[in-house]
Amino acid sequence: MSVLHDGIGSDAMNDNTANDNTTNPEKPNDSNGSIIPETMHAWQVRDQPGNIDDDPLEWVEKPVPQPGPGDALIRVLACGVCRTDLHVSEGDLPVHREHVTPGHEVVGEIVAVGPDAGIDVFGNRFEARVGERVGAAWLRHTCNECEFCHSGKENLCQHSLYNGWDANGGYAQYMVAPIEYLYSLEPLLGGGEGKGKGKGDGDDGTPYSLETVAPLLCAGIIGFRALKRTGLLDGISFDGLNLEAARDAIAERLGHKPVLGLYGFGGSAHITAQVALALGMRVHVLTRGKNAQRLALKLGCAFADDAYEMPPEPLDAAIIFAPVGAIVLPALEALRPGGVLSLAGIHMSDVPTLNYEKHLFHEKEIRSVESNTRQDGREFLAFAAAHHIKVDEHPYPLDQAQQALKDLKAGAFTGAAVLLP
Ligand SMILES: [Zn+2]
Ligand SMILES: [Zn+2]
Repeated sequence: MSVLHDGIGSDAMNDNTANDNTTNPEKPNDSNGSIIPETMHAWQVRDQPGNIDDDPLEWVEKPVPQPGPGDALIRVLACGVCRTDLHVSEGDLPVHREHVTPGHEVVGEIVAVGPDAGIDVFGNRFEARVGERVGAAWLRHTCNECEFCHSGKENLCQHSLYNGWDANGGYAQYMVAPIEYLYSLEPLLGGGEGKGKGKGDGDDGTPYSLETVAPLLCAGIIGFRALKRTGLLDGISFDGLNLEAARDAIAERLGHKPVLGLYGFGGSAHITAQVALALGMRVHVLTRGKNAQRLALKLGCAFADDAYEMPPEPLDAAIIFAPVGAIVLPALEALRPGGVLSLAGIHMSDVPTLNYEKHLFHEKEIRSVESNTRQDGREFLAFAAAHHIKVDEHPYPLDQAQQALKDLKAGAFTGAAVLLP
């Protein structure tokens, strides 16, 4: 049953009072027939962001938001913990919305849709169906009118909005998101009884579990874009990808087996490494954590050592995932002539002074990565559906989100933390 609200919805840019509209006389049912409650629990940033050790997030009870035009109300089933959530909580990113709820790796079930759902713009039609399991990722909105939106670069849209920064995200029991920017996750979660409840190891007929699919939504998609930005995938079509042909094409263009360096090895890198390995690359990992180094080798990477060490051979390309500008220097030094360094993070400490001869000459390039396009998201999720990725996930109860962020900052776990309501 589709549940249509009256359109007095909460929207990303509305003030907080929009969320107070919960006095709908007829309580809609969700797909399981249960009543959507009036209130929910959610995390939000306090009046000011601050050091995570000072608890900048608070656990509050607040009204369940209502979907506006083109929106879906999603019951959160799992939400990945991304380093960007730490940047939002600590104030490394400027405040875009007071008391925002972080979270942009949201696996959820649509429980209601607003009016005018399923709008068709640029082929991004999405028919919302109550009961469907979807992913809400970082990119929430683009203007669909500017030169960037019209040239396949909507990630550069100057009017873009982001889940868990400009609008409330998935560190909550429910969230509202525009349907056009959701990804259907049914192909990754499998169907049938117990759907999405499998081990997520690809062995039991359910390709991914709720907690292993969540990190794909940012760690996976952004890592994939960072890999594209290295140029190593130029000319590869991910529409009906033939893995063998892609491997041959990449190696043929370079004249040798491609060599990729990954600096930092957390949630995003451990997924990206597996995409690179599947595409026939040799992957060297440069990271401080011993457990992360061990995970890298276990996943099939050829070499793992400290971030400031040199890899055993020159790199065709490298990606820096760690938010540490100082690593730009050894990473550039490790590139072969013409190599590309891709910077995957949204925030990075200052890059030290470069030495032209040592770091940039020989046509080496530095490229930053800003968000992703929906096309990137669709390509990556299709890749992940076809080629199983082992996600090293660490579940936390939703009410332990702040602890999960502290553990992320402290490097207390490998892979990715995932919140479960
Ligand atoms: Zn735009
Ligand atoms: Zn993220």
